[in-house]
Amino acid sequence: MLYIDGEWRGARSGRSFEVTNPATGEPIGDVADGTREDAAAAISAAAEAFAAWSQLTAFERSDTLHRAYTLMMERREALARLMTEEQGKPLRAARNEVQYAADFFLWYAEEAKRVYGDVLPAPRPDQRFMVLHQPVGVVGAITPWNYPVSMITRKVAPALAAGCTIVLKPAEQTPLCAMEVFNVIHDAGIPAGVANLIPTADPAPIGEELVSNPHVAKITFTGSTEVGTMLAGRAAANMKRLSLELGGHAPFIVFSDADPVYAAKGASLVKFLNTGQACISPNRMYVHRSIAAEFLTALETRVGGMRAGNGLEDGISIGPLVDAPSLEKVDRQVKDAVAKGAQLRTGGSRLTSNGLDRGFFYSPTVLSGVTPEMEIYSNETFGPVAPVIEFEDEQEVLSLANDTHYGLAAYVYTEDLRLAMRMFEGLDYGIIGINDINPTAAAAPFGGMKHSGIGREGGREGIAEYLETKLGGFSI
Ligand code: NAP
Repeated sequence: MLYIDGEWRGARSGRSFEVTNPATGEPIGDVADGTREDAAAAISAAAEAFAAWSQLTAFERSDTLHRAYTLMMERREALARLMTEEQGKPLRAARNEVQYAADFFLWYAEEAKRVYGDVLPAPRPDQRFMVLHQPVGVVGAITPWNYPVSMITRKVAPALAAGCTIVLKPAEQTPLCAMEVFNVIHDAGIPAGVANLIPTADPAPIGEELVSNPHVAKITFTGSTEVGTMLAGRAAANMKRLSLELGGHAPFIVFSDADPVYAAKGASLVKFLNTGQACISPNRMYVHRSIAAEFLTALETRVGGMRAGNGLEDGISIGPLVDAPSLEKVDRQVKDAVAKGAQLRTGGSRLTSNGLDRGFFYSPTVLSGVTPEMEIYSNETFGPVAPVIEFEDEQEVLSLANDTHYGLAAYVYTEDLRLAMRMFEGLDYGIIGINDINPTAAAAPFGGMKHSGIGREGGREGIAEYLETKLGGFSI
């Protein structure tokens, strides 16, 4: 269903599309297929609702977001189960995601009350300067399927806290999770028109409406660099404000003084999280030559012990890939690497036994001897493959790590504080984990440099993306 102006409704076209479970191929729902006209109606509702919502006190908006947090936490288990069925990640990971998602409601319920202005020194004695921050207006938002609940709250919570209203188009593969988030928003008592949801199987016309409708002041997009770049061009032509959270190609660097077994544990946990379908997933593991053998043995053992299957079953750590093209891309990258001389240490094929052929399962894979000629070295894999590369010295690995147009996340393992600081400063990435595989939280600014995006989500930076700065000059 579409959620427009506080009501659940069908699409104007009367059409709907099917949602399937990527682990079993079974249909799990039928969702209204929103059209450009539906998007325009939602934008009108959001524009209408803006005046009243933006004029509420920050305390009132905060109360509503607090209620959304409480409701999402009450519904955590049901939401996590739905996420596992619709997106495929194991239940434990889905529960963690719901917690992360709810945290954005809680964090921005508080940040709503911290939108401070400034009184500045003015150049003339009879002049006073004051700076205000005001909500930008109606926001058009587009989100991906890989984190189908938290990618929505990471936008909706700060936008609403700032006093904006929003129209959101969720990913085609995960509209059911999006509908449950909007049920939370509805039940929390957010006024009609403030938040609107347009699922669709045909994203281009909705995207075009969002980037061209004069009522929309800002576009916030999370997804691939390719689609983000196209939307940014269209949004720029219409002078929309823009936030982009795009693809990544994270280096994971293990220096010679690190414990190779501990680093391999970290590598196995972060690489195979969400079956490698994360924008901050390591894509190039640079391991110092002196400890590479130990690292690879430990990594192979861990990865070889991972169980793939339906995430609702106990003991599953690898869920399916989201669809057939994703499976083909992963397999193509592995075959290309092996053909060009990489060694396949474990995995390397589609999983089909014990009913897994009904879903899109790929065996967790480790490759060594990966070189820059291989596709996997520079293109985002978005799958369960760990490519390992040996290196000799610090300057060499720093320049290899930075030699990409992506700049989202990077990871470093070392016990040397000075080296850690040099890496923190030298890596051209927005998020750096130093002996840390999970440098994300609602309180922390998340985002990338270069082609990985513009702007930040989370933290105090996250609400600033939805605020205008206004200067008042007063002659007295
Ligand atoms: P995608 O293909 O770019 O899709 C993202 C969203 O854009 C979906 O809702 C999609 O709709 C929509 N879309 C596609 N074409 C569009 C168009 N012409 N106009 C308007 N909307 C359009 O990316 P994805 O495969 O879903 O997500 C994976 C990518 O997201 C990866 O590159 C990953 O690194 C990135 N990501 C980044 C972050 C971050 O925070 N930086 C977080 C998560 C994911 P449909 O679903 O209907 O195609």
